Amino acid sequence: MSTAEHDIDWETALDEVDLAQVLAEVDGALLDNLAESLRFPTYESLLRASVQIAEEVYTLYRSDGVWVMWSPSRYKEEDPLFFYFQEPLLEHLHTHYELVEEGISFVSLLAELTQMKACMYCHMEFDPFDPLRIELGIERFLREEGDDSEYCSPKCAMTAIYEEMQD
Ligand SMILES: [Zn+2]
Repeated sequence: MSTAEHDIDWETALDEVDLAQVLAEVDGALLDNLAESLRFPTYESLLRASVQIAEEVYTLYRSDGVWVMWSPSRYKEEDPLFFYFQEPLLEHLHTHYELVEEGISFVSLLAELTQMKACMYCHMEFDPFDPLRIELGIERFLREEGDDSEYCSPKCAMTAIYEEMQD
């Protein structure tokens, strides 16, 4: 193999890797945008707040009492759906979707959902019972600061307290 040929192969391989990585990054950014449009700081936090209700379909129960139905694979063509009551959401699900697991009803899946809270500082949604939150000691920290879990993170709580002191 000549040096020139070797260089070309190497570059081609590198281009392919880069393209796949770029596409993954674009997709990740779009999913983060989706999360942000639903008032979640990251896609991961959106996913943790949601329950899978059918194939590629998730729901969550937001702090403002709105049920959101979203899909990670179809969000490019389809906006998330918003339901102000559980009944119409159930009706929609029964009409359009098959259950992921037989024997588990849509009602029982929805019952698994915790209603989110909205951070008093950044207004992002957060799950007050998120195990990660408890694991990181955020709950304990906020309680010690005299705040009853109204902030998504110690950072928001501290910033809010700091700004209050400035006034
Ligand atoms: Zn916050």
